[in-house]
Amino acid sequence: MSVIQEIRCSNCGAPITFNPGEIIATCRYCGFTCVIETGKAFTLEHSMILNEYDPTQAEELVRNWMRSGFLKPGDLAKSSKILEKSLVYLPFWIVPVSVTSEYRGIFERVAPPVVKEGKIEKKYDWLVLARKAAEFPTREYDVPLEGKIPYDFRKIERFAKILNSEMHQPQALELAKQQIEAHHQFLAKQDVDRIIEMKNDFSIGDSVYIHAPIWFIAYEYKGERYNIILDGATGTVVKGDIPSTKFGLF
Ligand SMILES: [Zn+2]
Repeated sequence: MSVIQEIRCSNCGAPITFNPGEIIATCRYCGFTCVIETGKAFTLEHSMILNEYDPTQAEELVRNWMRSGFLKPGDLAKSSKILEKSLVYLPFWIVPVSVTSEYRGIFERVAPPVVKEGKIEKKYDWLVLARKAAEFPTREYDVPLEGKIPYDFRKIERFAKILNSEMHQPQALELAKQQIEAHHQFLAKQDVDRIIEMKNDFSIGDSVYIHAPIWFIAYEYKGERYNIILDGATGTVVKGDIPSTKFGLF
């Protein structure tokens, strides 16, 4: 059970509510972003991406998605009932990073196995969800960074929910490194079957704290409940459950 707590905004005096575990909070009334523990201003860049759709349009996007693609039941758009649609501004850390990974491994698909060396050089704006428990397919979501603007509370819809960060920037950097390492191990394994050693060299730029608009939509089809995650900036479905089309046995 979560207990909502409250501090006073040191900029406008309004109450700022937050949940246990949250570390950075933003005032709904003036947009002031502070570190909860100290109440002091958050000093790194805080940005946002604008939502471009109202609830009716979001539903229309979902119906279009339901109508397209051959893997879906033919009557999906017609027979589904939208149960919930909520717009949430999710907090992310964007970590700009250049990574060089040098690895040595064994290529076993030939006889005798050979030792191979390789190098992976990549540049990322690596995305870290600033929530610990939330289930969100971060790797399937490209933050439309070209639409990034300084955080402006006046641009947040009244009906929208804003989630606060549950991690400080250093934790986000650490997570980004771990995730990139895992990703590069995956990439190296396309080349060698077994990795003997891997050295990663990170060059990290200034990270950005950003709120991005995501629609969480639930629908019902033939008595079952399914979920859809929709990008509020581009209108694309980031992830959507599709009822399995069962083929009858003749
Ligand atoms: Zn305030």
